[in-house]
Amino acid sequence: MTIFERIIAREIPADIVFENEDAIAFRDLNPQAPIHVLVVPKKVIPRVGEAAARDQAMLGAVLLAAGETARKLGVCSTDAGFRLVINHGRDAGETVPHLHVHLLAGRSLKWPPG
Ligand code: AMP
Repeated sequence: MTIFERIIAREIPADIVFENEDAIAFRDLNPQAPIHVLVVPKKVIPRVGEAAARDQAMLGAVLLAAGETARKLGVCSTDAGFRLVINHGRDAGETVPHLHVHLLAGRSLKWPPG
């Protein structure tokens, strides 16, 4: 079981900000911005580059959940705004092999990212 599956199962605590039947969103333990939330599908695949056609609905559901989470957190405007990040593999900084989308907001974010 991944650590995120254990959060979904309520085996370990998390600061949950949004949940529906497809996904859960909770605050990152090591935030990189004033708002840093992980949006995690309940159906597990390790990483985005391993997704297949059968995962299409799940992938769409995760982005919809991210948008809904951003609206709920009050950052879904063109003034405030937010960034979504998906890390695949070591060079990108992936540490948890359970697909997840980072939602970052609450400060001006640099581009290009580091
Ligand atoms: P990544 O490096 O893209 O795989 O992202 C994994 C993220 O999960 C990191 O930003 C960690 O800080 C975060 N993380 C790991 N364990 C937990 C946890 N128990 N609760 C919340 N966030 C976590």
